[in-house]
Amino acid sequence: MIPAKRPPIIFLVSAPSGAGKTTLCELLKQDFGESLYPLVTATTRPMRPGEVEGQSYFFLTQEEFARRVAAGGFLEHATVHGNSYGSPRAPVFQALDKGQDVLMNVDVQGAESVRAALAGDSAQAGPPLVDIFIAPPSLDILQTRLTGRGQDSAEVIERRLQKAAAELACWRAYSYLVINDDLQAAHDQLRAIVLAERARIRKSA
Ligand code: ADP
Repeated sequence: MIPAKRPPIIFLVSAPSGAGKTTLCELLKQDFGESLYPLVTATTRPMRPGEVEGQSYFFLTQEEFARRVAAGGFLEHATVHGNSYGSPRAPVFQALDKGQDVLMNVDVQGAESVRAALAGDSAQAGPPLVDIFIAPPSLDILQTRLTGRGQDSAEVIERRLQKAAAELACWRAYSYLVINDDLQAAHDQLRAIVLAERARIRKSA
């Protein structure tokens, strides 16, 4: 029999800062609406102008963040330049239970933790995970984008670029590589990945 439903999928998007993952994830959210649940990251960093609690991030105090870490509330968490970031665990499984696919936006270091956290055990496979690496066309263009975004000081941009060089070396750990040169082309590729993965026949399903 042809199954009436397919198992929901976690789409994990990673990229060096400035490669365009926020821009591309926003476009995907518009494409897929309710069927693709965008996981909101928690952070201890201060809110920037224009950011919205619960949409941009969940803004937590250090104490609350530590409490949630201790309670196992994050699939992955890390402290970067003094600010902590974490991917809340419960909303992922709530969305999957409702049959929604989940869109996670996690830095390159965090992706490995998410893979491990979702791998399941020998008795039961974890939810299907599709990981996608978004790369800038070059480090020069990454620098131009970070500068053009107007969010970071020259010192922070320099730090981000150094980190990006190491992060780019990790692309082989992913299932898909999308080079964000022309935005429309990268968006088309990402949308195609979501559509194709939704049609994939999974042997364990
Ligand atoms: P990230 O979330 O990966 O840090 P952003 O989505 O904030 O990156 O993008 C960084 C900057 O680059 C933003 O100013 C964004 O508008 C711009 N940008 C994103 N994709 C492209 C593209 N394909 N061409 C030109 N500029 C882009």
